[in-house]
Amino acid sequence: MNSENSVLDPKTSPTFPIAARATLGDTQLRKNVRHATEVIQNKRARVVAEMPDWQQLRESGRQIRQHTMANLETYLEEFERNCIRAGGTVHWARDGEEAKRIVTTLAKTYASQQNPEVIKIKSMTTEEIHLNVALEAAGVKAYETDLAELIIQLGHDQPSHIVVPALHKNRQQIREIFQREMNLPELGEKPQDLADAARKFLREKFLRVNTAVSGANFLIAETGGVCIVESEGNGRMCLTLPETLITIAGIDKVLPRFEDLEVMLQLLPRSATGERMNPYNSIWTGVHAGDGPKNFHVVLMDNARSEVLADSEGRQTLNCIRCGACQNACPVYRQTGGHAYGSVYAGPIGAILTPQLQQLHHAQSLPYASSLCGACYEVCPVKINIPEVLIHLRNKVVKQKGPLNPEALAMKMAGTLFRSERRFRAAQRLGRFAETPLVRRDGSGDGWIGWLPGLLGGWTQVRDLREMPKETFRDWWEKRGKRGN
Ligand code: SF4
Repeated sequence: MNSENSVLDPKTSPTFPIAARATLGDTQLRKNVRHATEVIQNKRARVVAEMPDWQQLRESGRQIRQHTMANLETYLEEFERNCIRAGGTVHWARDGEEAKRIVTTLAKTYASQQNPEVIKIKSMTTEEIHLNVALEAAGVKAYETDLAELIIQLGHDQPSHIVVPALHKNRQQIREIFQREMNLPELGEKPQDLADAARKFLREKFLRVNTAVSGANFLIAETGGVCIVESEGNGRMCLTLPETLITIAGIDKVLPRFEDLEVMLQLLPRSATGERMNPYNSIWTGVHAGDGPKNFHVVLMDNARSEVLADSEGRQTLNCIRCGACQNACPVYRQTGGHAYGSVYAGPIGAILTPQLQQLHHAQSLPYASSLCGACYEVCPVKINIPEVLIHLRNKVVKQKGPLNPEALAMKMAGTLFRSERRFRAAQRLGRFAETPLVRRDGSGDGWIGWLPGLLGGWTQVRDLREMPKETFRDWWEKRGKRGN
């Protein structure tokens, strides 16, 4: 992934099995991903263990999010009223295209006319709609200010994790990017050296650029405020220094009451980065004379979230607070890294969110990118039952392929066999006969099948199949009964 114009787009990306094969071959990437996820997981486990009421907190988080989704329209309208009352302007965007049009128009209106530029706070929502590409096409230069996003932008790369977008890069690789892109051949390799270089690079932009674009962790309906949590303070610079702030948020980001933050701001940092509290928690409400941006715009974007909400089984996906804990815990993500998912939302949350946002037209392979081990469900701070949604989506994928697809036909045939003992026994006899030419014996005389034809070949591509036993359990049981022991 190293092209200036490449974006993670499920419409054009290869399927997960094909993309995963490529990333599995990148041993450095796998090492980086395994190391980083292990560090975050250990930190998370330590701070979660300190909380005797962690399970109650998770349950509260689940209930708040479930209640919000059941009354989403009410809370969004309440947010709009209160944001406008506080001096903000609210825009509604049906999809990504409309959101991009609104943001680029606002950026061109407020940014310097001679040299239109914006500074950006890390935002997966803007990555979801490829906002930077749209801004660039409109002649507006966007600078990422989150350190990890800056690494991705300067490296012409794509994010691979929702909380730590450059998780697949190690320190040496980051140093090389900074040396090349910031023209710093003498740059040292200590974390402090890299942080200093980024600080110097960004400081000048904070002071010069007069328009910022942010995402939002939460929108608070009761006050019309926008809550952004981060670790570096760069986000707060973007919130306070520019004259104009444009916030873009999915409609699922709303919370009913200010006090709901009490639960969310305990769950989120512990689950995301293993911290008891985020170093910077900013809540921005409207416009205030002499303090912060003079113009404040919020773009509320649907982009298929309403369709997800309408699906009673998939709906819980919208409860996500984007902590990334499921990614760190997932044995599949930890091997393949994020780019194999072909979307900015990788790992278990990506496997359920991307296919739903794309209405399963693309990303049909993602619901299968899981062993259904349940590790994601166990760590999710708002108790999203990801395996349940994965199975629901697999069911939809099979249905979408129609009744004549080979998988559905094979399942139908298996159902017919399993319903009748006579048919089942006949199939076993046939199977033993049919496998004979395929069986190869090992040194101890055990029989193995290393190749199966057609669809069945998917099984033997990665493992050998044991030959069928000469005597089944049922035969043995019957013989035993006749012998009377
Ligand atoms: S699904 Fe749960 S664990 Fe995964 S990112 Fe969302 S909130 Fe975090």
